[in-house]
Amino acid sequence: MTLVDTHTHLDAAARSGGLPGLVGRAREAGVHWMVAVGTAPDDWGLYRDISRDHGDAIRYTVGLHPCSVEGGWQAAVDQIAGFWRPGSSPVPVALGECGLDRFHLPKDPEGAAAVFELQKAAFRAQLSIARSIGCPVVIHSRGAFRECVDMIDESGVLWPKIVFHCFSEGETEIRELAGKGGRGSFTGILTYKNADSVRAAALAQGMERLMIETDAPFLSPVPHRGKTNEPAYLRHTAEYAAGLFGLTLEAFAAETTANARAFYGF
Ligand SMILES: [Zn+2]
Ligand SMILES: [Zn+2]
Repeated sequence: MTLVDTHTHLDAAARSGGLPGLVGRAREAGVHWMVAVGTAPDDWGLYRDISRDHGDAIRYTVGLHPCSVEGGWQAAVDQIAGFWRPGSSPVPVALGECGLDRFHLPKDPEGAAAVFELQKAAFRAQLSIARSIGCPVVIHSRGAFRECVDMIDESGVLWPKIVFHCFSEGETEIRELAGKGGRGSFTGILTYKNADSVRAAALAQGMERLMIETDAPFLSPVPHRGKTNEPAYLRHTAEYAAGLFGLTLEAFAAETTANARAFYGF
């Protein structure tokens, strides 16, 4: 059985020397692949290096997270396309995570509006790069579903290349994404007691496009809720979700792994 953690952050583990242990525990849990998702120039080069060193386990992406967007965003975004240039090896499997986040804005309304405008500018620029590369795009959307959808529509990026990661909207929103050809991927939130609407969204999307992720080190699934998350814990989300869909773990793993590898192209 093989699972893919389609969205994780490995910078802390890599910097503390904990990566070999983390990869080993993941493998024991059946999680043979993980996608390390970039958030800022700090982690892009690191992720390229660890994906080269762990070519049989780690793939990576490069993108500027909306919470990393500040006045100097343009200089950061200008570095992104370079990761796809011939000779840059290995090449990222997607651009992201990028998008919009209303949950971590400054408290004063004027400051919040200004930062949100910067987020939009950085998101628009990254969508345009993704469109010219033709790569998949990992979207981070919190409290900004409508704006994200509209900006993707305007960008000309093809919807089958889009994943809204850590999907935490409801059925209506996932049906809208599915109708366009996009998808959502799901974290350990699926296992939380109060997450009925997220479970309903996963079921409404169906197995055909389903991908699962840890978003480690955050959002540990039950029974590790509240602790530091890591790719091995994807197993708990997979077991829970297999039950939700009425499948064996093996069948669930086979289908979500095929979906993930087709989406990211590895
Ligand atoms: Zn995110
Ligand atoms: Zn993330």
